[in-house]
Amino acid sequence: MTQDGDTIFGKIVRREIPATIVYETDTVLAFRDISPAAPSHVLVIPKRPIVSVAHATKDDAQLIGELMLAAAEVARQEGIAEGGYRIVTNIGQHGGQTVFHLHLHVLGGRPMEWPPG
Ligand code: AMP
Repeated sequence: MTQDGDTIFGKIVRREIPATIVYETDTVLAFRDISPAAPSHVLVIPKRPIVSVAHATKDDAQLIGELMLAAAEVARQEGIAEGGYRIVTNIGQHGGQTVFHLHLHVLGGRPMEWPPG
């Protein structure tokens, strides 16, 4: 766990470690979570490392928008859009963040509980 630069997701972006990539644009990468919490569980990340949305600035606004649209596109691709799904981003210790490179979890394929634990 590091908060100061490169993470395992940076290594995935650079293809230094393997991942099951399901969607990619110039700015965004989506790959399957290694420990899925739902039948469909994909992580959508900006290629450019930002620690979390709490660390994003106005300069990142377009990229954050692209990330959300990519998550919706991934959901369509995964066949979970019609049934409904959840997009989650964990921030910091209490948020449950373990990888300090901004990522959206796209979870679907089963009913989601609310509130989350
Ligand atoms: P978070 O706890 O919100 O920071 O989420 C980090 C997520 O990254 C967890 O759901 C992990 O299962 C997932 N993860 C960690 N390492 C990898 C990896 N090498 N490939 C794919 N997913 C990973």
